[in-house]
Amino acid sequence: MTRSNLIKPILDQVYPVIDYGKGVYLFDKEGKKYLDGASGAVTANIGHGVPEIIEAMNEQAKKISFVYRSQFTSEAAEQLAEKIAALLPGQLNWCFFVNSGSEATETAMKMAIQYWQEKGIHTKKKVLSRWVSYHGITMGALSMSGHSSRRARFVPLLEDFPVIHPPYCYRCPYNLKAPSCSFLCAKELETVIQRIGPEHIAAFIAEPIIGAAGGAISPPEGYFQIIRQICDKYEILFIADEVMTGSGRTGRMLTCEHWGVIPDIVTLGKGLGAGYAPIAVAVASEKVMEPILNGSKSIMSGHTLSANPQSCAISLAVLEYLEKNKIMRQVEEKGNYLKQQLEEMKDSFSFIGDVRGKGLLLGIEFVEDQHTKKPFPREAFVTQKMVELAKEIGLIVYPSGSGIDGVNGDSIIISPPLTINEQELMELIQLIKDTFSAFSKSMNQ
Ligand code: PLP
Repeated sequence: MTRSNLIKPILDQVYPVIDYGKGVYLFDKEGKKYLDGASGAVTANIGHGVPEIIEAMNEQAKKISFVYRSQFTSEAAEQLAEKIAALLPGQLNWCFFVNSGSEATETAMKMAIQYWQEKGIHTKKKVLSRWVSYHGITMGALSMSGHSSRRARFVPLLEDFPVIHPPYCYRCPYNLKAPSCSFLCAKELETVIQRIGPEHIAAFIAEPIIGAAGGAISPPEGYFQIIRQICDKYEILFIADEVMTGSGRTGRMLTCEHWGVIPDIVTLGKGLGAGYAPIAVAVASEKVMEPILNGSKSIMSGHTLSANPQSCAISLAVLEYLEKNKIMRQVEEKGNYLKQQLEEMKDSFSFIGDVRGKGLLLGIEFVEDQHTKKPFPREAFVTQKMVELAKEIGLIVYPSGSGIDGVNGDSIIISPPLTINEQELMELIQLIKDTFSAFSKSMNQ
């Protein structure tokens, strides 16, 4: 049991105490080295111990660490907002800073409801979402999350916001293939909107690539364009939850940009502070802010530590580091190479069912049978075993899956820091192979 976060590891493993990090590596108190193949939780996007970030941290600490956002702002917060607005596509110009991805999606939900209220429409209060999704752990964010195991305990307190299937092509609910499927899973949104009535729906929220709930489930080209069209047709705001997929993870500031889709509201977190500070943001477009600025003038939300100058200065330094070192430009090439290597592993390891994802956000789904796609039984704890075997070998991978019972099963995410170099990438690939060999051996015992 770790007293700091009240966790008893499922497989009764002892949690190593991490002493320090350098680049893509972590070192524990026993001196063991780990290659961070997951950027922690898809967060440490520029690796550990980057001197420029430590310097920015120190400089800001010398100036001011806290001001209360209701009465003051800071240079750091203003500069960060300017930088984010400049990096994002379209007119996504208004930043509301918070401390976690969950708070960002909660804020996005409130922004959407407030937008309609300021326009004099008081019935639009629902925020539709998809099954096999994760938008955060607080009650509003969990209401939007189609993650049945995380919802289970709280169901009576939650809204029924998840309403449509995800674009889970590996296990298509219609047994069809894109694009000949005509994107039926996207078109479900229209059917649901017609059933509920657009007058009750404020927004639709989706992760461009499904992370924690599904192991980097990526939509086929064309999917999000249809979602955007449906939202526009029924006057429903589109919120892209880019907490995991944004901040350069797939080679663009937003993953939506790959498909030329611009959301009305977007959330960023995780990589925004790259693990150096707790920071996340809900960014509203000019369209969303217009009635709010003409009405009550501010977003009806906020936390004591919103727009904390220390966090903002760190995040600004992270974004500048990404820009200065042209890191986003290299992501697609590194990701394509890694994905191809993972694909090739299917021949040697029959438990690899699907390899998916984009840029350096890649997922591997494990199955008992590659041909029938039969999942492993839950009680086999395959994901947890894989994570622990990797850790023993000196590799960190991110456990995912179990978003909806009986549909998707075991998967991990491979998402090393975007700064990973060629030699480290080779080492990562070897460590993944070693982990899979150890798993094969454990299955045969
Ligand atoms: N949204 C997405 C897409 C996420 O992946 C996560 C976390 O995994 C969250 C929201 C919640 O973020 P946090 O854990 O920082 O509250």
